[in-house]
Amino acid sequence: MPLRPVSSSDLLIDGKLAPGTGGTFDVRNPATEEVLGQAADATADDMDAAIAAARRAFDTTDWSRDHGFRARCLRQLRDALLAHGDEFRELAVAEVGCPTFLTSGPQFSGPVNDLGYFADLAESYEWTTDLGEAKPMGLKNTREVRFEAVGVVGAITPWNFPHQINFAKIGPALAAGCTVVLKPAPDTPWCAALVGKVIAEETDFPPGVINVVTSSDHALGAQLSTDPRVDLVSFTGSTATGKKVMAGAAETLKKVFLELGGKSAFIVLDDADIASACSMAAFNVVTHAGQGCAITTRLVVPREKLDEAITATKNALAGLPAGDPSDAGTICGPLISAVQRERVESYIALARSEGGTIEIGGGRPADRDKGYFVEPTLISGLDNSARVAQEEIFGPVLVIIAHDGDDDAIRIANDSPYGLSGAVWGTDPDRINKVVNGVRTGTMGINGGIWYSADVPFGGYKQSGIGREMGVAGFEEYLESKAVATPA
Ligand code: NAD
Repeated sequence: MPLRPVSSSDLLIDGKLAPGTGGTFDVRNPATEEVLGQAADATADDMDAAIAAARRAFDTTDWSRDHGFRARCLRQLRDALLAHGDEFRELAVAEVGCPTFLTSGPQFSGPVNDLGYFADLAESYEWTTDLGEAKPMGLKNTREVRFEAVGVVGAITPWNFPHQINFAKIGPALAAGCTVVLKPAPDTPWCAALVGKVIAEETDFPPGVINVVTSSDHALGAQLSTDPRVDLVSFTGSTATGKKVMAGAAETLKKVFLELGGKSAFIVLDDADIASACSMAAFNVVTHAGQGCAITTRLVVPREKLDEAITATKNALAGLPAGDPSDAGTICGPLISAVQRERVESYIALARSEGGTIEIGGGRPADRDKGYFVEPTLISGLDNSARVAQEEIFGPVLVIIAHDGDDDAIRIANDSPYGLSGAVWGTDPDRINKVVNGVRTGTMGINGGIWYSADVPFGGYKQSGIGREMGVAGFEEYLESKAVATPA
């Protein structure tokens, strides 16, 4: 099945590919501003049909109980997607503007291979736990706990890592026995729509088990949050939208699973090699133009080494310019849209007005007259109370902040509404451990450690979210438990 050239895509509803009843909307290449083609524009009626199909598939088939069949379908999907790997990778670079090197990891290969991890879990998970006998109220009973799929899942995803986030939801949800309606972000509909096409044409997923609904209208996400036929909403996106999803879900008291924003700190201890720590921090913040929720965007360095750290970070950023994402060597591609570029530029202007110094960058690259590029930027001269240190910018913008010792560094890291991720760089293991234990976030990397993997739970403390994605914990988000007792 050739995925290219793509000029339009379909919705996947109840096992059938169909155009959206709202017509189509443009898909744009953020590196060139060219219209690549059109995506199906679903309406509320299409979403209604998708939810009905998912409900029917969950309630009237044995999908949720046939663990082996689900594992087989997931492996079949993984293999079909990998067979189309080149097309999918090219598509991700064109539609998302992600640097090519990331398609060997979280922008394609990583999450597709992770489908195998979730297939294995469907088969190996202990679906029933024997609790043995007990005598509640003097009467002997045998007890067990059975684990069952939650039901219909509404999966709402953002544009920054569409494959990673789409598969980190549909993989465990389907493996757990749920049925799914996936609603991707309007900026990246094709990454999801073409997965729908592969599912329809090359796998045995029964009709309605997985539905893919692309739309230019955010209201279709809200529809998933409020519809009483949906049992769980799995959302990744901004904290502001996450709050709306939670409020929308409250009326029907559905489960919510939220992966939200971050403003993670990269802490450099005074026994660290400043140049290597700052090089790593610079690399992190420019990767995919800083459009990653877990990217460390506050560089927290010893006050007495602040000047040295600014120089080292500037030097590193100078070697990581924004460039064409289809070039193998590019680390920093474009932002996703003109709107997102305006948002990033407004934060850089805000840093200036708050008294900050732009040490490097701050504008658009002179060598690019098309595409939504912003130069890798370092801001100094502000403390952690500045808005650019508190709010998520989602661009290649690093704020450098001085600390007065390890405890102060932990305090600064935690002085944030977010708690998603973080990093520490140093040499003394006891001091490093104290920092790791003190920082209230869902993931931490030590001296460049990479936690990203199928079996590692990912998610946030505080306003970075509720619940965990990936790993056994991520699988169990899609389960209910049922306690069963029989007189012995
Ligand atoms: P967004 O919140 O604007 O949109 C995310 C999704 O929600 C889109 O599909 C959108 O159509 C939908 N949506 C919009 N309004 C809605 C509503 N009222 N109800 C239900 N759905 C609605 O986020 P974005 O701009 O696409 O993505 C960037 C944000 O996502 C950043 O804040 C980033 O930190 C966050 N993010 C978090 C993680 C994580 O795992 N914690 C991962 C990636 C991105």
